[in-house]
Amino acid sequence: MEVNCEDCAGCCMDWQSLLADGDASTTARDADGGDGRRTDRQRARKPFAGRDDDREASREPLDDDTNFVPLTRDEVRAFLESGMGAALQPRFWHARTESEGVEIDGRTVAAVAGRPVFFVGLRKPPKPVAPFGREEPTWLPTCVFLDPTTLQCRIHDGDLYPDECRAYPEHNLALEQETECERVESAFGGDRLLEADHDDPGGLLLGSQAIGAKLFCHPRPDDLEGVVDRAAAGALTRRDRAELIAVAAASSPGTPAISDHHYERAKTRVLGTNEGNSADGESWVGPAIRDWYQRYRESRKAVPSPTVADAVETDRGAPETPDWDALE
Ligand code: SF4
Repeated sequence: MEVNCEDCAGCCMDWQSLLADGDASTTARDADGGDGRRTDRQRARKPFAGRDDDREASREPLDDDTNFVPLTRDEVRAFLESGMGAALQPRFWHARTESEGVEIDGRTVAAVAGRPVFFVGLRKPPKPVAPFGREEPTWLPTCVFLDPTTLQCRIHDGDLYPDECRAYPEHNLALEQETECERVESAFGGDRLLEADHDDPGGLLLGSQAIGAKLFCHPRPDDLEGVVDRAAAGALTRRDRAELIAVAAASSPGTPAISDHHYERAKTRVLGTNEGNSADGESWVGPAIRDWYQRYRESRKAVPSPTVADAVETDRGAPETPDWDALE
């Protein structure tokens, strides 16, 4: 398998709004960092979701992240231990039938044995990016770890680099699903997926293998009243995220069991001692996310240069990326 990622990073951002009308306003997710709830117009900008052939076969997520990166329990713990709990984001799904879900906030949420199930992935604050050879930057929901200047991953091949990113798009190819590379090719031209041959990938964690390892089960559905509503509205609070991330970190692969010790430890990690400002203490991630949302609120139309990331991320301690020229 060989891919051409230069000037792309299509799998690290939600770029479909670029197709809609050129007014690529971003989706401001998370009440603790953003200001916004999705509008119906933004919800409609999902050309790859909700297609007739998908609807029967798969459960629809409550959120509208088109490139969600599911993390394993051990990866969730590693991000927490690195002071990067602010980077994490849960995802729920609508159940396909009433019998496979639980009713919360007027929605039937997918569940296993009466426990609502969810993934934990990476957040996408709005960043000014110019992918696919575009000359002008646009605010787009972009992975917290993507350097908007070089469009390279700040944690590529590091200890925290997620298995899912390492395997992409191999997992899609193995499951005979369209890849983001092909979607970008269809929309903007160019050659992204250069070689589609692939090895048999490990780590897919399908079915019951996923429970407690990548698919987490919340043991107290009643505690999620209000949380599910906010997840669907893109308005999760830090406390909401802390509850779900703590359950994920406290999970045990292969079972729905939760470790009280790990739950309390993880929750404290996400919430920190000063809930207003410094949940993760030393990490650059939380302050950078809040800064991105604030800049987005203040200058939706006047999009700044991606190089503003030097002030928002690098000056706070984010690792630099090498640029493509340096890799040739
Ligand atoms: S962790 Fe890196 S490779 Fe994965 S989505 Fe984020 S920026 Fe992209």
